[in-house]
Amino acid sequence: MSTKIWLSSPHMGGGELKYIHEAFNTNWIAPLGPNVNAFEAALQAYVGEKKEIAALSSGTAAIHLALILLGVTIGDEVICQSFTFSASVNPILYQGATPVFVDSELETWNICPQQLEIAIKDRIKKGKKPKAIIAVHLYGMPYNVIKVKELSIKYNIPVIEDSAEALGSKVNGQQCGTFGDLGIFSFNGNKIITTSGGGALVCNDAATKQQAVFLATQARDEAPHYQHSQLGYNYRLSNVLAGIGRGQLEVLQDRIDARRANFEYYKLHLKAQNFQFLEEPAGYFSNRWLTCILTPSFQMREKIRVHLQTLDIESRPLWKPMHTQPIFLKYPRYVNGVSEKLFEIGLCLPSGSNNTENELDSIVGVLKGF
Ligand SMILES: *Cc1c(COP(=O)(O)O)cnc(C)c1O
Repeated sequence: MSTKIWLSSPHMGGGELKYIHEAFNTNWIAPLGPNVNAFEAALQAYVGEKKEIAALSSGTAAIHLALILLGVTIGDEVICQSFTFSASVNPILYQGATPVFVDSELETWNICPQQLEIAIKDRIKKGKKPKAIIAVHLYGMPYNVIKVKELSIKYNIPVIEDSAEALGSKVNGQQCGTFGDLGIFSFNGNKIITTSGGGALVCNDAATKQQAVFLATQARDEAPHYQHSQLGYNYRLSNVLAGIGRGQLEVLQDRIDARRANFEYYKLHLKAQNFQFLEEPAGYFSNRWLTCILTPSFQMREKIRVHLQTLDIESRPLWKPMHTQPIFLKYPRYVNGVSEKLFEIGLCLPSGSNNTENELDSIVGVLKGF
């Protein structure tokens, strides 16, 4: 009997239960406690750069708080990479603001610096300077952090760095998540490490983190009674789940090595085939969260995907660009055809750190038939 091969499934390291037991034994079953503090400290130590990190209930919550901290409100415009998962964009609408979509470059598949500058200039000309830029390290490949930073400084627009898929990725040795004015991570079930559900906000200083935690815990004023003068949210990470996070961080390096080995395996065994892989530009290090291939055509991509499905092997088209999503059709966009083409011919292959060589071998065998 065969079992399903997943795109990316949770992979526990073994240390998680110890921390969960600690939470139970000390009755810290709350959205605060020693595991939350220790998880934040371990994450801070991991990413370095003197960052202050707030553990939250999801990556989406982290993006939402980032927008609030940057003062994004009704009627504002926020630039967002179009080639991404919808969670990058949705919080812009939670704030009653307008997303402005910018297409990708071929080098990284992420936000195209040229299109970004065209968009910024045009929005300013039309009367509204964007309040923020959301750039995304898709599939673990860093976006062009240097050029995006240059534009951010040139036009004085802060960057929210969506690093949900890129924990452990680097540019010139610096960790992704630390390049933006605010960064975010996700620990959802399919990410490189997971807390089953969870996220984090990466801040430049303790005061910003304090404000994020204040907003994430219902914005309670300093008073013995419950008093509120600002809108609050329930966005903090549970102390039980933070225990899973502590155990997962201990095996993060193994998970990165395994995902990168998946990529190398696919590339090595499929190099004679007519598939393309996304290579790392000089100085870039991808955690290779998902291995993606570009096939010769939409028809071929679909044939492969459907055939894998009949064999109980999960694969998935690349993200459908946000500017082509029914819900976002009415918003401004600056496009160059790159993300639409990637969506048309691209396929994500099973990339779990727990995929066995036998499984990879059988997938490669199937793909060689095309
Ligand atoms: C997963 C993901 C998110 C959202 O994270 P959650 O923890 O699931 O809310 C945001 N952006 C990208 C690019 C993601 O892949």
